[in-house]
Amino acid sequence: MKIKILSHQEFAGAILRKPTEEVKLPLSEEDNIILDNMIKVMYQANGIGLAANQIGYNRRMFVMDTSNERDNPQVFINPVVTSKNNKKVKDVEGCLSCPGEEVKVKRSITIDLEWTCRHGKHQYKTFSYLPSKVVQHEMDHLNGKLIIDLS
Ligand SMILES: [Zn+2]
Repeated sequence: MKIKILSHQEFAGAILRKPTEEVKLPLSEEDNIILDNMIKVMYQANGIGLAANQIGYNRRMFVMDTSNERDNPQVFINPVVTSKNNKKVKDVEGCLSCPGEEVKVKRSITIDLEWTCRHGKHQYKTFSYLPSKVVQHEMDHLNGKLIIDLS
């Protein structure tokens, strides 16, 4: 099966602008397959993050790998932002679902996130720098927002 990253320009891309739905735990076999596919597609596309709705699944989960080695995929299920730093920086971002677009986006420099990992454990962490930006970008995806909608 060929998995495709949806672009906002195509008809099916409408799913990108719909808020995603909570994932039931423990993870179903289907959700596990979707996660494996998300990781695979993220690496194939040379991305550092990918949300489930970008490959057509209306579920609250995303994957991220900001490591230089590209060997540390992290899985975030039902992530919730618990706090955002008021200090923000503006920087250019791209998005696999908005090919060719580069948008200047303002992001908090740090962000506190809670989520469930693939093994069903509750996690929390403060992200900063690049991971903080990626988490905020992916959270926007899960809420149906694209960088081209922000300003
Ligand atoms: Zn994106």
